[in-house]
This record gives sequence, structure tokens and C-alpha cells, in this order.
Amino acid sequence: MPVTIRYHAVSVVSQPVKVNSMDRESTRIEVDIIACDGQGYCAELLPERITLDEWGYPIVRDTPLTSELMDDANRAVRTCPVNALSIHRATR
Ligand code: SF4
Repeated sequence: MPVTIRYHAVSVVSQPVKVNSMDRESTRIEVDIIACDGQGYCAELLPERITLDEWGYPIVRDTPLTSELMDDANRAVRTCPVNALSIHRATR
């Protein structure tokens, strides 16, 4: 059975991100699970989008960030000791 893989362009944002109504549907926080060392700070700072698995590694909900969550999301990105978190805006 053929498998279709769809890609869309993603830009990585390193500066604090503000969200307007145009971005809301496509701005997400993502984790580089290879870089992550599982200390779990992110889940404490952004529990609305990040929970931890049984080993303490983050499980990120694939749900867009709302403007109300952006301060906490930016704080989580800044706090991650290994820079494993980033905020992405998908351009479709
Ligand atoms: S704060 Fe960074 S290193 Fe710690 S669990 Fe979250 S993503 Fe991983």
C-alpha cells in the first residue's frame, strides 16, 4: 500500500514569539527529543501543552499555541537547559 507523506515548510523562531490571529492555527511548540535530557522543566512551565512520560521525557500535544500561552511557551523555551524546545510557525 503506497504511503503519502506530506511536508510543509516550518520556520524555527529563536526570538520570543507573539501570536496574532493569523498565526494561531499554526504555531506550535516542539521538542528535539535527541537533545532533551528529560529534566522536565518544560512540563512545569507549560502543562497545557507538555506532559511527561514515565521516564520524565516530554510528550508535546500537537495543538496550536494560543496567545494566552505564548508567555509560558517562550519561558519554557528559554528555560530548557539544552535548548531542546522551539516554537514553530508552519506556513501552508
Ligand atoms: S526542559 Fe528541555 S531538557 Fe527538560 S524535559 Fe523539557 S525539553 Fe527536555
